[in-house]
Amino acid sequence: MGEKNRAWIELSRENLAYNVERLQSLIPKECRLMPAVKADAYGHGMVLIAGMLANLGIEDFCVACADEGIKLRQAGITGQILVLGYTYPRQFDKLVDYDLTQTVVDSHYAQELQRFGKEIKVHVGIDTGMHRLGERCEKTEAIRGIWDCDHLRITGIFSHLCVADSPDEKDRVYTLEQIHKFEQTIEELRKSGIEGFSRHLQGSYGILNYPWLAYEHCRPGIALYGLLSNEEDKHRCSVDLRPVMELKTRVQSVRTVYAGEGAGYGLDFQAKKDSCIAALSIGYADGIPRELSGRGHVLIGGKKAPIIGRICMDQMLVDVSAIPKVKAGDEAVLIGGQRAEQITGEQFAGWCNTITNELFSRLGSRLERMEK
Ligand SMILES: *Cc1c(COP(=O)(O)O)cnc(C)c1O
Repeated sequence: MGEKNRAWIELSRENLAYNVERLQSLIPKECRLMPAVKADAYGHGMVLIAGMLANLGIEDFCVACADEGIKLRQAGITGQILVLGYTYPRQFDKLVDYDLTQTVVDSHYAQELQRFGKEIKVHVGIDTGMHRLGERCEKTEAIRGIWDCDHLRITGIFSHLCVADSPDEKDRVYTLEQIHKFEQTIEELRKSGIEGFSRHLQGSYGILNYPWLAYEHCRPGIALYGLLSNEEDKHRCSVDLRPVMELKTRVQSVRTVYAGEGAGYGLDFQAKKDSCIAALSIGYADGIPRELSGRGHVLIGGKKAPIIGRICMDQMLVDVSAIPKVKAGDEAVLIGGQRAEQITGEQFAGWCNTITNELFSRLGSRLERMEK
């Protein structure tokens, strides 16, 4: 278990359970959540999060690569683990050894998997318009041909939506077309007598904006962590989701910087008056973007401390002139609440000119992760 020493992440099991319940209540009850816990569960800590989700009755999970799948198996996950991305042939034996389910990224790859010569569980990816992974949906013969690969144990078929987050009319039309193409592909297969597999299409925004789709699985990531990609989406969303993560660090030193002096690399911060400056023990090596230099604030003593100067590799500076009695060891909240104040992940990502998905998934391995 992690310790609250230098900089750490606190996870709320309660909020995670709440989000699971909220998302599950939106969709048909036969549709099972198969959470995306890739990229260390979007920075939250994959093993901790998957353990909590397993305790809530969730069995199946999505990861980005075989190595993540192996880590999940070793942590005791017994359900289906779907590898969403490409696995290099050299690692095919790992898929078998750890009972991972591989995505068929196109029909050429199906042949590659077939040539391996051992039974491998797969879900067939269908490209309905994102043009990233999956066999193109109009290539019906090539798709049907995947079922001729006798070493592939095909247990699922899926596609991915690429503008499901957008409320614009043209994007809604595009998404409805993607849904239609996915259904058509399934119908074509059914006509050839191919059926009896799990179907899934929706990530978080697919669930929130197209909740009526009744498939066997869905693949929520960001929303399960109580986040949307940005503040605008958050304001637009009527579903109450609660943040699972709080990100905290400590004050390591406090000093006066006198009027006319600079502080930090490049001396970017220039004191207009005598100022009280605190150094915090977290930096860009922990995943705090340099983009945050001189923008936004953290919470110390329940008050806002503006971020000043450039973010360093392991440290950052804040102005605590307006906060009385700040001392080394005090907690500083970067994301989360302190007394009456609150900094949301969406707000923080906005200061960094990015989306929560990127900000959170880049949080570093040096941060301790623990349950609150
Ligand atoms: C990452 C990913 C998801 C989860 O997406 P969110 O928007 O975070 O819910 C679902 N499906 C695929 C294919 C993904 O790559």
